[in-house]
Amino acid sequence: MKDIIIVGAGLSGLSLAFRLQQEQPHLNIQVLEKNLSFASNKTWSFHGGDVENIKNWKEIISHHWKTYNVRFSYEREINQDYYSISSDSFFKIMKNKLVSSLSFGVDVIEINNQSVRTKENIILNAKVVIDARSNDQISFKDLKKNGCGFQKFVGLEFKTKFPHKISVPILMDATVEQKDGFRFMYVLPYNENTLLVEDTRYSNTEDINLKEIELEIFKYIQNKNLQIEAILRTEQGVLPIPISTPFLSQGEKIKIGADAGFFHPVTGYSFLWVARISDELAKIKNPNPENYLNIIRKLKKECKQNERFYLLLNKMMFHASDSTNRYKIFERFYKFSDHTIDRFYSSKINMFDYLKILIGRPPISVFAALKVLRKKDNNLLLKEVGEP
Ligand SMILES: Cc1cc2nc3c(=O)[nH]c(=O)nc-3n(C[C@H](O)[C@H](O)[C@H](O)COP(=O)(O)OP(=O)(O)OC[C@H]3O[C@@H](n4cnc5c(N)ncnc54)[C@H](O)[C@@H]3O)c2cc1C
Repeated sequence: MKDIIIVGAGLSGLSLAFRLQQEQPHLNIQVLEKNLSFASNKTWSFHGGDVENIKNWKEIISHHWKTYNVRFSYEREINQDYYSISSDSFFKIMKNKLVSSLSFGVDVIEINNQSVRTKENIILNAKVVIDARSNDQISFKDLKKNGCGFQKFVGLEFKTKFPHKISVPILMDATVEQKDGFRFMYVLPYNENTLLVEDTRYSNTEDINLKEIELEIFKYIQNKNLQIEAILRTEQGVLPIPISTPFLSQGEKIKIGADAGFFHPVTGYSFLWVARISDELAKIKNPNPENYLNIIRKLKKECKQNERFYLLLNKMMFHASDSTNRYKIFERFYKFSDHTIDRFYSSKINMFDYLKILIGRPPISVFAALKVLRKKDNNLLLKEVGEP
């Protein structure tokens, strides 16, 4: 019998296997993946404050910058580390490290905390089974039903003929035309001749017009007087930005990953929770379901702590602001201190941050915001922060 079975060889499942192997090398781990290979072609980024023990993750970080930039009607450099993981290099590292633990082409259809059943009706047992599957269609159905927004993006990674001279990431360049919601360019300079440029939109619709967006990216590059030598890669994605709680009713299952609701409600980023969960579970010396569940329960509580506030912001963004003025919410937000911005992204905001962000000169119509704020499910939050 295995010590640990992890179902799903994606970001959360492999990260946990990686950390378990580091901290508990005696454990016998098996990772089961439905597909025949890794689902690559993603860039996973995170802010410095998201991860407490960055040294645990050094090996898988592809790029690190000491500061980053945002551009609205003003330009600002924010003194905060920013990191990026390329899925290609992540999967290569995982393949080397976990080779004897990986099994591809195993479709798991039933999971209990100590056993799994595959599509071929094979039962596998372990001291602990962790569900790290994702199934976009099922999990995001409820969020969509409740009227979520979407963060959608198309990115081109390309080589420039000459050094591009962009030294730090531009997380939001919102000086571009505002259409299809809040729209900005996200720029990561990987080295002096390589850039990732992503056209990103906080939109009410999830459809992507690839041609139109690629043209916009080329236009942006041209405006920066950059000449393309080669397009190295394209990437695209649609992440739901919830206005209702993203946790599915999982009962007492040891479930991790984005499907378990472990992601930042405003950005859709999940690495902050991947790192926290993996670091904590890797400390457990005696693998049994109760020990694992205790940690999952604790982290779920932490994840939900500020959830209502983030969902409220999303509601205001998608239901109280007209889409062409949506950028004003972020334009105002990036005027706050580096610390508030840091706490916002790492899901560690406090009451003062709540007040600062919600109250003050509102960037959206007061009447529309109040209508959203006064809805019954926001009453508790209003009690906490005081009505504006
Ligand atoms: C293009 C893109 C860019 C993103 N960028 C960022 C970013 O910058 N920062 C960030 O933090 N987040 C980012 N995200 C969001 C999030 O981090 C990713 O979606 C992340 O991959 C979620 O990790 P996960 O382990 O939950 O799911 P996945 O990485 O999708 O892994 C789940 C795995 O489970 C497998 N599986 C599913 N069903 C079964 C089954 N029945 N049996 C066995 N295996 C199964 C799947 O095949 C998959 O390999 C991005 C998402 C996308 C789409």
